[in-house]
Amino acid sequence: MRRGFDAAGETIEVHRLTSELKLAGLGLTALKSNFVQLKHPYKLNFAVTYRCQSRCQSCSIWKQKPKQELSLDEIEQFAEKNNHFRWLGLTGGEPFLRSDLVDVVEAFVQHSKGLYLVAMPTNSLSSEDIIADRIASIFELGVPRIIITLSLDGYRKLNDRVRGVNGSFDEVMSMARRLRSMQKTWKGLSFSFGYTISKLNEGSLEQTYQAVKKEIGDVTYNDFHINMGQVSGIYYDNLGADIQTDRLALADELDSFIRKRHMEFGLAPLIEGVFLKKLVYYMRTGRQPIRSRSLDASLFLTSDGDVYPSIMWDRKLGNVRDTGYDLEPIWHGKEAQAIRSLIKQGKEPSSWTACEAYQSITGYLPSLL
Ligand code: SF4
Repeated sequence: MRRGFDAAGETIEVHRLTSELKLAGLGLTALKSNFVQLKHPYKLNFAVTYRCQSRCQSCSIWKQKPKQELSLDEIEQFAEKNNHFRWLGLTGGEPFLRSDLVDVVEAFVQHSKGLYLVAMPTNSLSSEDIIADRIASIFELGVPRIIITLSLDGYRKLNDRVRGVNGSFDEVMSMARRLRSMQKTWKGLSFSFGYTISKLNEGSLEQTYQAVKKEIGDVTYNDFHINMGQVSGIYYDNLGADIQTDRLALADELDSFIRKRHMEFGLAPLIEGVFLKKLVYYMRTGRQPIRSRSLDASLFLTSDGDVYPSIMWDRKLGNVRDTGYDLEPIWHGKEAQAIRSLIKQGKEPSSWTACEAYQSITGYLPSLL
């Protein structure tokens, strides 16, 4: 049975203190990762489903045959055996297509007592009420922070072409308005527009911002989160996709866009600013800005239980179905040790994605200066 947030019995003050303790726990663990090899990962990147209603040109996830997704029962076993997560990055496919999404999060809430943050993208194509209800239900479980990224790759006509579904732009705008209104109730809710910059929308970032501004008057440049279109065989299934073009031109476009961001106080905006600046560096040089924290702070779990160091590194470590859903044998296995050694030697494949970058930034404090 779902454990509800007892608003009547639990005072706002207790809830606030619990949230602050969980935030402190996340901060301290990230800080610790600067100095020692962590015993357990604190962030789980988990593709809960590969089903998706979008038809993005930059990604082939939607073309994949259905996989044997981990069932709720299997996820509950995984969450029980691996109870050290403070941050869940749930992705897809479209995560909101999992009808048991709230139960999936609840499994982690029950066992990972320090869980502070759940981050999820959405293409906004599921029913707005369903998305809003699931977000509210996750807050009711006691999760202090939820970050939603609304995928948007252009102004109306361009977005709908790049993402392959007519009306997508308008669905995103409608979802953004709904989330704005939900923020009045749920103070821990934040959202941004997730823009994947690539050959498909080159030169359109500012025009996209202006198109959103017309719809959502209070939007600012800070409300845009940018990723670079990248190729990954294990995740986007788009090896060979023609999405990268003149990286220097894209880097210039991004650089000029992020210079319009206003100063915001707080650790989260600071980390986002560092992420974007380093993304410009990565686009210009092709070099990874900071050593990753894969298999130290984080890992990537696919919808059918495979474990990889990250969404970008096609080196399978094992499948949790073969270990009774326990990460330990995989985490401490020979393959994991070999990969950690490669990372330490600077021999990991070069990439810079939001799924991996934040824990890399907080795990290397000088990058924040
Ligand atoms: S990029 Fe995301 S929304 Fe688009 S097809 Fe791939 S999984 Fe779906």
